[in-house]
Amino acid sequence: MPHKESPPVFVTRAMLPPLETYVEKLRGIFSSRYLTNQGVHAEALERELQDYLAVRELVLCTNGTLALQLALRLLGLNGKKVITTPFTYVATLSALLWEGCTPLFADIDPHSLCMSPSEAERLLESHPDAAGVLPVHVYGNACDVQALERICRTHHVKLLYDAAHAFGTTLHGRSLFHWGDAATGSLHATKVFNSVEGGCIVVASDEAREHLKLLRSFGHCDDTHICLGINAKMSELHAAMGRCLLPMVPDFLKCRERLTALYDAHLAPVLGQALRKPRLAEGLCWNHAYYPVFFPDHAALLRCLRALTKKNIRPRRYFYPSLNTLPYVQASACPVSEDMAQRVACLPLWPDMDEKIVLQTSKIVIDSM
Ligand SMILES: *Cc1c(COP(=O)(O)O)cnc(C)c1O
Repeated sequence: MPHKESPPVFVTRAMLPPLETYVEKLRGIFSSRYLTNQGVHAEALERELQDYLAVRELVLCTNGTLALQLALRLLGLNGKKVITTPFTYVATLSALLWEGCTPLFADIDPHSLCMSPSEAERLLESHPDAAGVLPVHVYGNACDVQALERICRTHHVKLLYDAAHAFGTTLHGRSLFHWGDAATGSLHATKVFNSVEGGCIVVASDEAREHLKLLRSFGHCDDTHICLGINAKMSELHAAMGRCLLPMVPDFLKCRERLTALYDAHLAPVLGQALRKPRLAEGLCWNHAYYPVFFPDHAALLRCLRALTKKNIRPRRYFYPSLNTLPYVQASACPVSEDMAQRVACLPLWPDMDEKIVLQTSKIVIDSM
């Protein structure tokens, strides 16, 4: 019999609840025939997430991209110049462009991989018409939230965090969603906590929450049309999945931490030398959302990726290319981001991943160097 190749090992795998717990919720949905429009599960998940993250107001929506778009509208940033980072998933940028914003790229800090506050400040000074700053808590690490807040206050601009990677991370004991005029999350299948597809926006006032609810649901309340809205609601089937998975998150975080420590141990001969990891913020309790490593140069990264691909291990180049180089944005230089993007890979990591994958991946990485 021919040898059947084992399925590829990707950078992550979606976590699922026990099937019976989801089926039980499905039964309720089938008997009520209430499928969407803020049903019992969407309402309950909103409250449960608010409690879990210990944040003031949380509004659920369809996905993390629409969460950004709703937040940009909420803060009145649509159509304006907004300073953002080139080292992120393309959705941060696409949300800005879709809302008619002009992105200005502030280069990143080479250690944290998050937006450099001094670069943001430089851009605010040279673009007095910029209206907001959109940094990303890259890999679940924290931006320099104090510096960014001070700069945004000084320049009277809005601060919106893309916290899509930050679910479960705390800084000085507080969820990263706490910072900024608003922070958005993604509950996509590949993230630390998922509802298959989903997103959320965290804000600090009742007015902001109510306005987001309007934006999310066509901008009207019954027959009263108040503002331009869109359809960004979360269905009951998605919310039910989120409710089944949320109680499992503390366990996921522990598993991620244990596997990260195992990678650290097996990569020890090269870590901190030829292979580098991001520097975590002080006071951070990290969610271990990814296992990113930076190779000495592009050639070393490609050599390692080829060796891993031969064994059917397929890490992702999160984040490549640097977004300031995309064909549909105005060209600008971000040398740090461009350099880091050329030599980064995120190694496979999910909570119930077999430890053998850590061993095998680490060995291939070391042998390729
Ligand atoms: C995943 C992600 C998004 C988009 O979230 P979706 O739920 O997939 O739309 C936005 N920003 C960052 C940084 C992400 O990683």
